[in-house]
Amino acid sequence: MSAGFYQLGEEHDALREAVRALADKEIAPHAADVDEQERYPVEARDALVSAGFHAVHVPEDYSGQGADAIAACIVIEEVARVDASASLIPAVNKLGTVPLLLSASEELKQRILPDIAAGASCSYALSEREAGSDTASMRTRAERDGQNWVLNGTKAWITNAGESTWYTVMAVTDPNATKKANGISAFAVHADDPGFSVGPKERKLGIKGSPTREIYFENCAIPADRMVGEPGTGLKTALSTLDHTRPTIGAQAVGIAQGALDAAVGYVRERKQFGTAIGDFQGVQFMLADMATGIEAARHLVYAAAAKAERGEADAGFAAAAAKCYASDVAMKVTTDAVQLFGGAGYTRDFPVERMMRDAKITQIYEGTNQIQRMVMARKLLKG
Ligand SMILES: Cc1cc2nc3c(=O)[nH]c(=O)nc-3n(C[C@H](O)[C@H](O)[C@H](O)COP(=O)(O)OP(=O)(O)OC[C@H]3O[C@@H](n4cnc5c(N)ncnc54)[C@H](O)[C@@H]3O)c2cc1C
Repeated sequence: MSAGFYQLGEEHDALREAVRALADKEIAPHAADVDEQERYPVEARDALVSAGFHAVHVPEDYSGQGADAIAACIVIEEVARVDASASLIPAVNKLGTVPLLLSASEELKQRILPDIAAGASCSYALSEREAGSDTASMRTRAERDGQNWVLNGTKAWITNAGESTWYTVMAVTDPNATKKANGISAFAVHADDPGFSVGPKERKLGIKGSPTREIYFENCAIPADRMVGEPGTGLKTALSTLDHTRPTIGAQAVGIAQGALDAAVGYVRERKQFGTAIGDFQGVQFMLADMATGIEAARHLVYAAAAKAERGEADAGFAAAAAKCYASDVAMKVTTDAVQLFGGAGYTRDFPVERMMRDAKITQIYEGTNQIQRMVMARKLLKG
């Protein structure tokens, strides 16, 4: 047996270094303003696109970089370390395009993926107001009309809607299917398709730089060849996608937590009380140690889950749910502790930990709440 080394490759380390340098220089200086003004992080988008970091997962066959799943996580993690809103650019580009990679025809992939590789964005539209955790109860309809599919309905909570050029949309094509899940199909919708429009921005607790909107379909007719995969396979594709992308939300959570820990370490070294740096107190040191341990554990779980999904391993679904759930719980705890270590200053917008704590919360909610992740895991365990 050859010796195995449990570590990332040099290419991953080099990628991390490059993304971190770009994030520190081009993205971090705007993060507080992006949050304060609730504006799209255009500086981050431009920097990520010009460096080719906005969608590294797109395969070379479609003019992309063909980076592996761990590399995609590293990009998201390093951007999230300075600005969670900006990290949704690479994260949502992956979320929107994995359904295409998994199920679309070669022609459709050729039509859309090079566009994304060149800098366009792709959103993912599964949720509706009345169909959140219970995705199969969606109401958006697509009906065949000659050479077209005609979409009607409203999708809710769509990340980066209004900024994206392409939308991967799940809609009911067979309302009479015996199992609701088998009556849903996936479609690729372009922002310029007639009958497509976006609503106002949600007013959110965090990730304020990433617009979240409803999207509307009013007799939105799209060519029949924009269906992604076979009729009735849309929900299956949408849920398989999450095996690949829940680790990226885990990576976002790890990045947010790392940013908060780094800020806290810097602060406790400088801040003096009782005549000494607060970092000299054991009560503070133990908090730092626990924060760092949680982050490191989450990071390994995220990378392992990303690799399992890429290899198509049987327990990829479990690993993806575990990674997203654990990493997001760590991010919430670590960012809350970081605010605590800053004392009163942590509660103000003068320091980034307040924003990081607000941003961390969403990672416990989207791509399936953490209760849903635990249901997914328990179901797998009990099935044996
Ligand atoms: C900022 C933001 C961005 C988003 N981006 C996207 C996007 O780009 N695309 C997209 O399709 N969706 C997106 N979502 C939607 C997101 O995935 C859903 O909000 C999430 O899945 C929860 O659905 P819900 O809001 O309807 O909550 P509900 O399903 O109503 O859940 C409410 C509460 O009940 C709990 N609950 C529900 N069912 C169960 C159960 N069986 N057992 C135990 N507890 C349960 C939930 O865990 C939660 O605590 C986004 C949401 C937000 C807030």
